[in-house]
Amino acid sequence: MTEGQFDVLVLGAGSGGYACALRAAQLGLSVGLVEKGNLGGTCLHVGCIPTKALLHAAEVADQTRESSQFGVSATLDGIDMAGVNAYKDKVVSRLFKGLTGLIKGRGITVIEGVGRMTGPRQVTVGDTSYSGKHLVLASGSYSRSLPGLDIDGERILTSEQALALDRVPASVVVLGGGVIGCEFASVWASFGAEVMIVEALPRLVAAEDEASSKALERAFRKRKIHLRTSTPFQSVKVTDDGVAVTVEGGDVIEAELLLVAVGRAPSTDGLGYDEQGVAMNRGFVLADERCRTNLEGVYAVGDIVPGLQLAHRGFQQGIFVAEDIAGLEPAPIDEAGIPRVTYSHPEVASVGLDEAAARAAYGDDGVETVTYDLGGNGKSQILMTQGFVKLVRRTDGPVVGVHMVGDRVGELIGEAQLIYNWEAHAEDVAPLVHAHPTQNEALGEAHMALAGKPLHAHS
Ligand code: FAD
Repeated sequence: MTEGQFDVLVLGAGSGGYACALRAAQLGLSVGLVEKGNLGGTCLHVGCIPTKALLHAAEVADQTRESSQFGVSATLDGIDMAGVNAYKDKVVSRLFKGLTGLIKGRGITVIEGVGRMTGPRQVTVGDTSYSGKHLVLASGSYSRSLPGLDIDGERILTSEQALALDRVPASVVVLGGGVIGCEFASVWASFGAEVMIVEALPRLVAAEDEASSKALERAFRKRKIHLRTSTPFQSVKVTDDGVAVTVEGGDVIEAELLLVAVGRAPSTDGLGYDEQGVAMNRGFVLADERCRTNLEGVYAVGDIVPGLQLAHRGFQQGIFVAEDIAGLEPAPIDEAGIPRVTYSHPEVASVGLDEAAARAAYGDDGVETVTYDLGGNGKSQILMTQGFVKLVRRTDGPVVGVHMVGDRVGELIGEAQLIYNWEAHAEDVAPLVHAHPTQNEALGEAHMALAGKPLHAHS
């Protein structure tokens, strides 16, 4: 049976898909949105939002534990996981309700069920096929595993399963020192678990500037999070009490749980994309800078497209596609200008090129850096956090990268992103007045230092 034709048919209602649907409907286009689970996808239900709620609960625990350094007497009596989960679920359900209302309010037709691409711009759900003048593929991603590593949901968990845990484990091995692994390690350490991160690469958050990785590792070690970098995983055995993880070299690490956080694979298997001739590479859908696939009228957004797997990239791509379809000719998205934040304690935030990438692009003489220590920043001292703001610029040219470490520095990324996208020179930013005392001042101070006139830093 064939039903309705839409101007825009979207497969998957995660960050990329629902953003596209909302913007397309706002622009007066008729929209069909196919979703097999919950509107909002990974980010809202098992990604950004619930993890950040856990991280906030973890911050409250840390602040309580460390309250005496502020002269406040409080004791941490323990973590009530049922209470933490109730708080986390309440945040998710409020946002879910809001999103559902928005989608309904914009007149978008939600088609519930598992969709499959069955024609050039057609999706079939059950016995019914839907077509669109334009089709947007937005089926997202799922937690990857490694060969020989069977996730059982009891002792060996994905991040989705870890989010639903009803207790604080006594000990955890976190396999993978990327963003998701570091965030869970941070939460569990704050909740009192013994945590070890096992990472095959030489450093944590390896996509970040090397200085950021080093600072995060130092801070984690101080928090008694054990780190085994340059340590490839070999095998795991489930034991009576938990897991025994063997790493290359033969060491065996025992813990109650193993979290597998080794990345996310695109959800494209069995969805009919290849049969319909969509160009793909290792499961990812190939799309150009305008999010167009090789097929006329077929777009792809979000985690199924190679690049940063981040919700705000998906949002922006979704909006871009809707505007492109509506003929607004939006400007393509600059991937390097997409901000990145790891919300651990401390946070790591960045935009643009790291120092190594800038040196590779412009040569050693073509790059200058400055690092401003948060030790000179009043608000950071009030919060008792350590870290830095590091700027990378082309010699006598614009700032091409901003890298920050410290509690709450994720909140500074908005200004850093503006500076990057504005292609600002240090001399443009140095005169801007930043409110005192704020952590934003650290960004201003770093630019003053780069412009050769440091105030609260040594010349
Ligand atoms: P998804 O959000 O995965 O949505 C895809 C949707 O398609 C899903 O709802 C799925 O049910 C549906 N679907 C798939 N196949 C079908 C089908 N055949 N038929 C119908 N429906 C289908 N990003 C950030 O920016 N900030 C963060 O702090 C952050 N934290 C994260 C923490 C964790 C633990 C995880 C796992 C991810 C996190 N992310 C974060 C990444 C972010 O969640 C993803 O980048 C984002 O959700 C990708 O959006 P998407 O639309 O591509 O896919």
